[in-house]
Amino acid sequence: TQLILSYNYLETYHWFLLTLVPADLISYETDRYIMQTFAIVAGTILLFLLLLFALLYIYRNNRRRLEHIAFVDEVTGGMSNAAFRIKLKEMLKSAEKNRYTVAVINICNFKLINESFGSREGDKTLRYCMEVLQRNVRKGELAARGEEDNFFLCLEENRQEAITARLQAVIADINSFNRTAKNPYYLFFRQGAYLIDDPQMDITIIQDRVMTACLNRQEYEENTCVFYDFHFTQRIKQEHELNAMLPSALENRDFQVYFQPKVNLRKGKVAGAEALVRWRNPEKGMISPEDFIPLFEKNGNICKLDCYVFEEVCRILDQWRKEGRELFPISVNLSRQHFKNPDFMEQFVEIAVNYQIPKGLLELELTESIFFDDKGIALVRENIDKMHELGFKCSLDDFGSGFSSLGLLKEFDVDTIKLDRRFFMDMSKPKARDVVECLIELSRRLKVQTVAEGIETGEQIEFLKRIQCDMVQGYYYSRPLPAEEFEKWVGWR
Ligand code: C2E
Ligand code: CA
Ligand code: CA
Repeated sequence: TQLILSYNYLETYHWFLLTLVPADLISYETDRYIMQTFAIVAGTILLFLLLLFALLYIYRNNRRRLEHIAFVDEVTGGMSNAAFRIKLKEMLKSAEKNRYTVAVINICNFKLINESFGSREGDKTLRYCMEVLQRNVRKGELAARGEEDNFFLCLEENRQEAITARLQAVIADINSFNRTAKNPYYLFFRQGAYLIDDPQMDITIIQDRVMTACLNRQEYEENTCVFYDFHFTQRIKQEHELNAMLPSALENRDFQVYFQPKVNLRKGKVAGAEALVRWRNPEKGMISPEDFIPLFEKNGNICKLDCYVFEEVCRILDQWRKEGRELFPISVNLSRQHFKNPDFMEQFVEIAVNYQIPKGLLELELTESIFFDDKGIALVRENIDKMHELGFKCSLDDFGSGFSSLGLLKEFDVDTIKLDRRFFMDMSKPKARDVVECLIELSRRLKVQTVAEGIETGEQIEFLKRIQCDMVQGYYYSRPLPAEEFEKWVGWR
């Protein structure tokens, strides 16, 4: 037998302890220890591996889910904007210039679909549009949903006619569901496109340009594709500039009020004037109201400007009164934006009282578009009554320039209607003359004064005299004039 001998020195009495053990007894124990350790290590590794696999599995699942959320549009099941941007970037990496065009189509009045049929139907519509788009794009092209009801397309086309034709085909395909529908409901689309002339361009800028084109369309372009043009960006920049310049322009009194006389046809003398604003910019020179009024209307800045003009008119009227002039009403344009503030009349009253302007000398011109907002009708009616109570007159401006309704005359107690110059542009047609004649007759019955606007020729004057229009405003008598020149025109100086 193999034995293992060990000895240990014991302090006591300098003894040694000898131990004899059979060798296999020890190796058995060691083997057990080795086996045990091995099993523990293997188990731990296995556990770690299992954990690792589990983690990888969860990670991959989550990643897939996140990718799905990011790259698949939740509502339509099609490509999301994020995926569109990534794919487009990849495609443009190897593309030469002018190869691709990015287009956007936007459903007109989509909110109306949601409102009338519910948002589920709205979602269904979006899903349907996406399906149609997907079957209309070719291999190597993209279709995705952007925000809300915008759909982006990347088409491998560079000719405007080809792009227009393809978008028209897509829209026709979308509306094809009407072939079997009992009550056809046509979808109209705003469309914008940008031919990518620089493949290195940032995708955000590309999409911005497409959107700019889409939003910059004119009314007559409602159903055609508008292609991005450098001027769009220039215009936006210019608009931004004008907005930024407004506060200092008001402070520096760069705005000047011009007066355009209204002539009483029966008496043949001036019976009023309209105040029209002019912007004299130290750097840009004279800026036309057409360039800044619509812009300031968009953001409410117009209210500040209207107040400025109103105050300027009061100041000048006050001066004329002190000079002992025989005064007549001056009208001031009032933007529809004022009606958003229920107490807007107060500020006008305060200014008029401040300058002690006699009642009846100030007239407020409201454009006919104000009167069509259903919710606003009661508000407008109330405000017209309030204007009268406070001593202002009220006129209905640009009558006939849009969808005028004779109902307006019945509903609203205005003192004057101003017939838009469009009525008098083609007086050769008997029908056109009859319409004007009847309107003037009707106004007379309703005891509403009439002003013909934009009158330029003696022929128009003769006709207006014959049908007894009360007043005329137009280049025939005078263009809008600065206060001093206006005073001369009236004969005060
Ligand atoms: P509006 O109120 O219809 O003013 C009449 C416009 O027709 C004026 O243009 C005037 O110069 C022009 N006009 C007058 N007679 C003739 C004519 O015989 N032939 C032609 N072709 N045009 C004539 P303006 O001054 O450029 O003003 C344009 C528009 O800007 C105004 O149209 C008005 O809507 C708006 N506007 C002007 N000043 C103000 C203001 O102080 N406040 C607001 N809210 N709008 C203003
Ligand atoms: Ca006016
Ligand atoms: Ca007008």
